[in-house]
Amino acid sequence: MKILVVNCGSSSVKYALFEMEKEKKIAWGLIECIGLPEAFYRRQTVKSDEKKESVKIANHTEAVELMIEELLDEKSGSILNIKEIAVVGHRVVHGGDKFFETVLVNDKVKEDLKNSFSIAPLHNPAHYAGIIAIEKMLPSIPSVLVFDTAFYHTMPDYAYVYALPYEFYEKDHIRKYGFHGTSHNYVSQKAAKMLKKSLNEVNLITAHLGNGSSITAIEKGNVIDTSMGFTPLEGVIMGTRCGSIDPAIIAYLLDKYPTYKDSSVLNDMLNKKSGLAGISGLSGDMRTIVQAVNDGNRKAMLAFEMFIYSIKRYIGAYYGILNGIDALIFTAGIGENSAFIREAVCKNFCALGIEIDKEKNYEHCTYERFISTKNSRVKVMIIPTNEELMIAREAKKRLTSK
Ligand code: AMP
Repeated sequence: MKILVVNCGSSSVKYALFEMEKEKKIAWGLIECIGLPEAFYRRQTVKSDEKKESVKIANHTEAVELMIEELLDEKSGSILNIKEIAVVGHRVVHGGDKFFETVLVNDKVKEDLKNSFSIAPLHNPAHYAGIIAIEKMLPSIPSVLVFDTAFYHTMPDYAYVYALPYEFYEKDHIRKYGFHGTSHNYVSQKAAKMLKKSLNEVNLITAHLGNGSSITAIEKGNVIDTSMGFTPLEGVIMGTRCGSIDPAIIAYLLDKYPTYKDSSVLNDMLNKKSGLAGISGLSGDMRTIVQAVNDGNRKAMLAFEMFIYSIKRYIGAYYGILNGIDALIFTAGIGENSAFIREAVCKNFCALGIEIDKEKNYEHCTYERFISTKNSRVKVMIIPTNEELMIAREAKKRLTSK
């Protein structure tokens, strides 16, 4: 069975084609800057090397058309007929208050997704455009939506309701939704396997540390809490996002600087000009920050320390809420690649039974592994995330349980 996974952004289409018997990715690609003169198409298959070229692409439909042409290409293509694709799995960032599980696309689902635009204005309109484009180009192939927020459906209300007047929750659906769910879901399943236990026997804290970062507390397979909230802005300090701040700061800024009365300017500052970039004045990219720390840059050092501190705070809190954990898992760009950051996060956590082995932590490899010491009560693990595969698995599950 072949499954196509599609992730549509506002000006991009990213895809991966999986052969599910061995869960092998056989083709993948990215079309970026859709609608702009600098649009390009980068793709690769197991049979051919990476190709990159400029393209003229006006919209998502044309991008999907190009992707299908490439998948069917006589020389480098991966399928002979589009009917080989059993199902298309779409990544959808926000399921709002309507979607708490993977769904097959139908008219009602599309309508509900449209109604979620106000709650997820940055992502869901683009996902919707992708769904319509796929429908147009592959009318006979079913589509399934896999929501980043769905993994959090087990959160208790005392964790997801904000202490605002209750009508904002009831009428406006303002609550914690949580994000990166597909990644946390993937690594938690893999962690249980590595621990040789079933998911409902273990307590885990998963740390997805990338440009966007989130920490999730999972008790016997059920999410209890997560650091991101109504939007991906809440939680730990991120590359360019501020993470949790005192909400009164917003009211203060609105009074003091009229420019922030425009909510897009305010959102831009909080989402794109804050975090590591805002503090250091350098960049939101962690590699640049680490380099600047090594060069003795004071503000980069502060940004770095704040990042580590905010992560430790969540781990400490979730450890207490879960009444102990079996494993702490690092994933995503920073979590998988930076031994320096994993070391800093785990430093002085021996009271919690978290001790990492320096050599194992600094070992250069890209596969999943344990990095805790033999005596560490809590296993510390690095598990490379694989959201595309998780979406393919979910799509297969939904299709076969239809
Ligand atoms: P992601 O959003 O998961 O792609 O992660 C991107 C982030 O990972 C960026 O901030 C990168 O700087 C960071 N990153 C990748 N490799 C390293 C590394 N070796 N050391 C520190 N940060 C890294």
